[in-house]
Amino acid sequence: MNPPRDVLVRFHEIGLKGRNQPVFTRRLVENLQRATAGAGVESVWAARMMVRMRLAPAADWSDVSRRAAQVFGAVKFSLAARAEPAYDAIERLLLETARDRAFSSFRVSANRSDKRFPLTSHDLNVRLGDAVREASGARVDLVRPDVDFRVEVGREDAFVYTGEVPGAGGLPVGAGGRVAALLSGGIDSPVAAWRMMRRGCKAVLIHFHSFPLVEGRSRDKAKELAALLNAWQYDTRLHLVPLAGVQRRVILETPGPLRVVAYRRFMIRIAEALAAKEGAHALVTGESLGQVASQTLRNIAAIDQAAAMPILRPLVGMDKTEIIAQAKAIGSFETSILPDEDCCALFTPRSPSTAVTPDEIADVEARLDVPALVAEAAAAAETHDWHAPRARAR
Ligand code: ATP
Ligand code: MG
Repeated sequence: MNPPRDVLVRFHEIGLKGRNQPVFTRRLVENLQRATAGAGVESVWAARMMVRMRLAPAADWSDVSRRAAQVFGAVKFSLAARAEPAYDAIERLLLETARDRAFSSFRVSANRSDKRFPLTSHDLNVRLGDAVREASGARVDLVRPDVDFRVEVGREDAFVYTGEVPGAGGLPVGAGGRVAALLSGGIDSPVAAWRMMRRGCKAVLIHFHSFPLVEGRSRDKAKELAALLNAWQYDTRLHLVPLAGVQRRVILETPGPLRVVAYRRFMIRIAEALAAKEGAHALVTGESLGQVASQTLRNIAAIDQAAAMPILRPLVGMDKTEIIAQAKAIGSFETSILPDEDCCALFTPRSPSTAVTPDEIADVEARLDVPALVAEAAAAAETHDWHAPRARAR
């Protein structure tokens, strides 16, 4: 038997998109092509209710599946052997597949997506099950079989496969527009950006640093995290924004307990200016309600009022332990815990106010030339880009 070379890519949410579905499947196809470029994938295309990939004979499935598992929008992948959609051909292929494996119990799970095929799924299960039983001597176990032979009968092809690789879920990156994610170098913000990417958004990243007020490794960390996140979205822009000018002014004019919220409002305004230039329509932060003093409801309200764009906080209802588990799963945790100087900790007291009022913050900002400080910082941003290779045109 020739080794299986067809990959069935299943999606779930995309299937609920009605008339917009082609927009999402096209994006999924393109993203799969980019994620697997150079790994021996011959073609990727949208089929009926699934996406298909065909592997070159020399392709390494473990490499392809590892990369494909980082593509949002796909729920699972199966490497399948193909036959013509006719009973005899299907049975032959199934028996060949069964011959290559050791098992003492099995089941057959057939699915007939082309309802014009003369046998129902139940008929197929029974006939194919009998054939496998006779050929292998194994018994049928519907509940806990050693192997589940999956049979998929479509209009032009039939497939046999026995396993599946879980996909990343969510929606294809790029199908949901663009956001600007504030990336601190801590644990939370890379997870927040990743979660929005998983909802189909391309994330432009914005990192604020206090160089030269502090030496700090934060810019290197932000670059490392950007490169890591790029594996999930293929094109990534990072803005490194100096906040020292703003901080010098804030320190002079702002009582200690208000400084964190004051810094944060500047960050939001500067990020909004950069986001508008990048065509982004929302900001993203890694805030989680109640995690630290700046993340109380009152302070979140005070921060929100500095922005016209929506501020998305995908971690708002998550516990720290859940965020850490997610950071480990996406591989950002190790970088996030490297030591650096948090620019918001600069000249702020140990106990910042947990309830900054609009009047307090307005009073402070009236003493600063806010638009000039924002424009100056935005203009001084340094830009870095990452691009995954494009699939070769064929
Ligand atoms: P993180 O782990 O993401 O640093 P945190 O728990 O340390 O979050 P804060 O320091 O209060 O929380 O930051 C809240 C959010 O504000 C961050 O998740 C991030 O989105 C944004 N932020 C904070 N500092 C910076 C920075 N230096 N550059 C860019 N964004 C920042
Ligand atoms: Mg932080």
